[in-house]
Amino acid sequence: MTPESFRAAGHELVDWIADYLETVERHPVASPVQPGEITALLPSRPPTEVEPWSKVMEDLNSVVLPGITHWQHPSFFAYFPANSSYSSILGELASAGLGVNGMLWATSPAATELETVVVGWMAELLGLPECFTGPDAGGVIQGTASEAALCAALAARERITGGEANRTGSPAGLVAYATNQAHSSIEKALRIAGIGAHNIRTVAHDETFAMRPDALAAAVAADRAAGLTPFFVVASVGTTSSMAVDPVAAIGAVARAEGLWLHVDAAMAGVAALCPEHRGLLDGLELADSFCTNPHKWMSVNFDCDLFWVANRADLIGALSILPEYLRTAASDAGAVIDYRDWGIPLGRRFRALKLWFTLRLDGVASIQDMIRHHLAWTAWVADQVRADERFALTAPPHLNLVCLHHVDGDAATDALIAAANATGEALFTRSVLDGRSTIRFCIGARTTELRHVEAGWQLLQRLADGPGATATAGATGSGPA
Ligand code: PLP
Repeated sequence: MTPESFRAAGHELVDWIADYLETVERHPVASPVQPGEITALLPSRPPTEVEPWSKVMEDLNSVVLPGITHWQHPSFFAYFPANSSYSSILGELASAGLGVNGMLWATSPAATELETVVVGWMAELLGLPECFTGPDAGGVIQGTASEAALCAALAARERITGGEANRTGSPAGLVAYATNQAHSSIEKALRIAGIGAHNIRTVAHDETFAMRPDALAAAVAADRAAGLTPFFVVASVGTTSSMAVDPVAAIGAVARAEGLWLHVDAAMAGVAALCPEHRGLLDGLELADSFCTNPHKWMSVNFDCDLFWVANRADLIGALSILPEYLRTAASDAGAVIDYRDWGIPLGRRFRALKLWFTLRLDGVASIQDMIRHHLAWTAWVADQVRADERFALTAPPHLNLVCLHHVDGDAATDALIAAANATGEALFTRSVLDGRSTIRFCIGARTTELRHVEAGWQLLQRLADGPGATATAGATGSGPA
């Protein structure tokens, strides 16, 4: 491509993106394609001739779009959201245009310094306690909460072994703790860290699916009595299945007394602390060693963007730093700069701070707070509708932007309802299981969602609740909050 053809294609692509986002609602939410259908549309051999831009655009529409599940669709109520914004997309574009690798301060000082500043802004906006903002602490942008969990586990492993695990391998007997509601990325992190799934204790939870601190204390005591070494506990603030919140302060008290590293995983819910009235979510965080939350879930910052803080940056850097000669720089040797390569798994680093910076400057935190507050009000409305319709029941206490509900006729009816609703293409829900019961997760987090989409999503579940062919809408429909 020449600069001229890039300009022309780029303008067309920006228009295409704007058109896509403006009309995303017209697509079925989940891609209807069957396995292999997209592959069959693609040539089996790589191109031998250079193709025109128009052909690529044609295929973007005819090959790629049919295979897209539309995460930015206003009726995407599945998983946890990965919402985006125009500002953030521009930040991604600027990052691609600059094409830098910000592995060291010296490889692009602006990439490092902007990241440090923007992560500092986020600490202030979220109201993080001093332990994550003081001189010993540090924050960094990771790709995902999974990477943050792995970094936390590695730092915790090195802290408890005095660096021995890095030298000679993970010693036997290290034990970690979480409930069965913790995200699967926690087990994955501990597997990768060489702890082994058999050394993860499943701590009992209460009826709200939150960890029982007394059960944690008992499990730690039993492991100590057995000659094992408890070292790591994960508290989830907003579990994936039901948005339960583990009692961080009480867990932190056990962690402090027992010398455990406390990692707080608030991948989804943490962003709600941007609204001062939800800061209580982070109560007890001052007792944690590490904390993460994902602007790429609920802050309209494009995937991937996870914010990860540690109370003692030396723990993290000590676990992850390796310095080959080819990465030495005068600024690093002088200790004058941060080299984020030492703060995560990969050496190479994208310039992710740009999209966060663009979003905060162009959209502003007030608009994000507004979006979150709307999502919360609409979620409360859905919960009220569930309570008022005798065909449904809440599977867990509704919290923040997630309602978990089931069909009172049992799991088969719930599973059939999810399948039928998703097959319409009108909305998308995810199934989970809570205490052995199938549940429909109705999660409101897309930036494009309006009240009418929430109402339509609920009416869809109502319409299909009586089984195939049912058309009557029984129970309450109500009208939503303004
Ligand atoms: N933790 C929780 C509570 C989550 O809900 C998720 C994903 O939804 C994750 C961690 C993993 O997030 P990521 O995709 O950023 O690794």
